[in-house]
Amino acid sequence: MTSRDSLAEYRRKRDFSRTPEPEGGPGDEGRESRYVVQLHDASTRHFDFRLEVDGVLKSWAIPKGPSTDPHDKRLAVPTEDHPLEYRDFEGVIDGEQYGTGTVLVWDSGTYRNLSERHGKRIPFATALADGHASFWLDGRKLHGGFALTRIRPEAWLLVKKDDEYASRAGTPEPSRAKSVRSHRTLKQIAADAKAGRKGRKRSGGAHWHGSRS
Ligand code: MN
Repeated sequence: MTSRDSLAEYRRKRDFSRTPEPEGGPGDEGRESRYVVQLHDASTRHFDFRLEVDGVLKSWAIPKGPSTDPHDKRLAVPTEDHPLEYRDFEGVIDGEQYGTGTVLVWDSGTYRNLSERHGKRIPFATALADGHASFWLDGRKLHGGFALTRIRPEAWLLVKKDDEYASRAGTPEPSRAKSVRSHRTLKQIAADAKAGRKGRKRSGGAHWHGSRS
């Protein structure tokens, strides 16, 4: 399966003439592996944890968000692969679109694969296919080792490794969380989107989000 094919479900669920989300072009390979954690104020507020793997963002919805406490096992529900450009997406998904609600870039950075089997490093995609992947995050908020483990086809657990970045701080507080991209809260992003929509109606096409800085 190519990385373009793996975005079929993502595209099928969306009408790109109606949503500001990226449609996703061919994967740009040969770069550092990135990750993003988006706070998504949908019908049920959750965090979307996305790791760049083979040209797409492998994705999990984490109801409680990632924890810095190794004692916390955070349920992570796999969702469809997203295009790489999605890691920059912040804004409001309107009306009756799939995934309606405000999206805030809660954390972003790079990660390193630490997955091993029988003492030997294995490719990250292989580790995920086998249901157990270890990695090191260098992000704005998250740091250190983490593991994702599949316990059922539709349920994984995200757990912090016990290292120098482990702490009892644990859980992020969504309502006060600020974007690492724009320093805005969910509330401010929603308000800006509302203002932007009005602006667009007047000016016929102002684009305020998804700026490629
Ligand atoms: Mn989501």
